[in-house]
Amino acid sequence: MLLSYLPLIILMGLTLFAIAYVAGKPLLVKKRRVRIANQPFPKSWRKILQQKIPYFYSMPTDLQLQLKKHILVFLDEKKFYGFKGITINDEIRVTIAAQACLLLLNRDTDYYPKLKSVYVYPAAFIAKNTGVDNAGVLKNHHRILSGESWDIGKVILSWRDSEKGAQDFSDGHNVVIHEFAHQLDQETGVANGAPFLKSKNNNQWSKVLSREFEMLTIKARKGEDALLDHYGATNPAEFFAVASEVFFEKPKEMLKMHEQLYLQLQAFYQVNPAIW
Ligand SMILES: [Zn+2]
Repeated sequence: MLLSYLPLIILMGLTLFAIAYVAGKPLLVKKRRVRIANQPFPKSWRKILQQKIPYFYSMPTDLQLQLKKHILVFLDEKKFYGFKGITINDEIRVTIAAQACLLLLNRDTDYYPKLKSVYVYPAAFIAKNTGVDNAGVLKNHHRILSGESWDIGKVILSWRDSEKGAQDFSDGHNVVIHEFAHQLDQETGVANGAPFLKSKNNNQWSKVLSREFEMLTIKARKGEDALLDHYGATNPAEFFAVASEVFFEKPKEMLKMHEQLYLQLQAFYQVNPAIW
């Protein structure tokens, strides 16, 4: 009698197992991340931060600590691949991870969930297409392809530009921040300048960003100088990425000249770099 129910029992068992697996996976991931984040930050990595990212030491100490934890988790989860003669080493990994993880501070983060790999080229690289294609691939043609963010699991970066961006944290340009801002945006689908907002302030966000985007578009058309690079006038996704670069690199200027935009980004990024 029981034997005739066996397939049903097995099926139910498997279903329960699958449910338990799906429900329990985020918990396991969270647990693993806590364990990784609490491992000691290697001395050699600290040296890399000192040498490669002077900006790190301008941050409040609690954020420095938090950033180190994020770097540990990020580097545990993301694979790096070198191309055209680049050999991946800790200097490359830590320098890129530190800048990428700046965007995660104080936020409820899933560590760029779509991202699996970071491809590193020695310098600006050539891609066949430009613009946004149907797969949601963003091509950063402005910087002659110093970076690309794909929503299917990879970010491509020029090491020369990533290194320069880390050294000079006040020129308003940072390819790593730019591409990882796209990754945040792409968490909600194709990049459109509307990343997932924790607050219920979506209306205010789109109102302020649309207005600022319009203003930049007009300036770009007239060829007038602007705090934000004219490339931000390409589309709302590029605007968000360019604004993110300026938010971290020229926060005081942004607060003075584009206060509402700064406040929106401050609420989104949960940090206030103008006082660092
Ligand atoms: Zn871009």
